[in-house]
Amino acid sequence: MKKDDSERRWALLCQRSPEADFFFAVITTGIFCRPSCPSRAPRRENVRFYDSAADALLAGFRPCKRCHPDRSGAREALEARIAKACALMEESEAPLTLHMLAERAAMSPWHFHRQFKLMTGLTPGAWQRALRAERLRKAQAGGETVTRALHEAGYTSGGRAYRQVKRALGMKPSQYRRGGELLTLYFAQGTCQLGDYLIAESARGVCAVLLGDSPEALFQELTQTFSHARLLPGDAAFGQRICGIVRWLDNPAEHAFSLPLDLHGTVFQREVWQALQAIPAGETISYQTLAQRIGKPRAIRAVANACAANTLAVIVPCHRVVRQSGALSGYRWGSERKRRLLQREAAQEE
Ligand SMILES: [Zn+2]
Repeated sequence: MKKDDSERRWALLCQRSPEADFFFAVITTGIFCRPSCPSRAPRRENVRFYDSAADALLAGFRPCKRCHPDRSGAREALEARIAKACALMEESEAPLTLHMLAERAAMSPWHFHRQFKLMTGLTPGAWQRALRAERLRKAQAGGETVTRALHEAGYTSGGRAYRQVKRALGMKPSQYRRGGELLTLYFAQGTCQLGDYLIAESARGVCAVLLGDSPEALFQELTQTFSHARLLPGDAAFGQRICGIVRWLDNPAEHAFSLPLDLHGTVFQREVWQALQAIPAGETISYQTLAQRIGKPRAIRAVANACAANTLAVIVPCHRVVRQSGALSGYRWGSERKRRLLQREAAQEE
């Protein structure tokens, strides 16, 4: 580096210039920063300049925890744009179109949609529906009439609005996000008597028991269901718990299942899943009866959807739901597996 270049860099550093295209390290602390870092200015003689964060890392310096010089600027700029779009939606009374949002973020609609979903776990449309449902709930909590609350929450048409509310009610954007950027999952895969399994656990408890015939497909199912979770292999204690769950899956009548569960779903879905857990092995139930049991006799389709959204095979026994005629209906993990599960439970009851 030329002497005058280092003088130029020192001058930019003293100004804390956000435009500066280099990094600096402080030999007395062993840390490197962006020139715009808000931490205390170093002494000139202790400063070393680097063209890139990689160079500073290679020289043995650690990245500063305030200015994160190791994070790419492009990524931060993108995050700032998405955060700004979220704020825009929160401030706006009327729904914003994808084109409007993308334009404000100076991105193409396609790119905006993709990045938004990647960062929040939701599409911009779903995000806005959730926001409106939240506004609606707040308005209702204030004792206003539903019609007025709907109007104030930005709804204009009756039927469609109610359907949207029903879909989003009972959930905040932050809960959606639990599906979820901050979620860390430990998972294990293997085979049991029911075929291939994938079991995942969060800090709260078991959140997925998926069954199938291909490990790759199961892994894909996990990443789709928990699209933003950080997936990690578990430790030895986790392995022990997995062994226990697999023993239970192979023979639920002989082993007790006592691990905590982490149910990821809306209030409605959790109600359905709890009702399912109350059905004893060897018995089956129709969607109609299940809907009646949770006090929503007309919500048959929603009940069926909640069963299909179950991520805890066998634990939440959605396989015990059959058609009113007694015929086997669909099963997330294949009707053949459902038939085997029901046969096994019927045999154990005899
Ligand atoms: Zn710093």
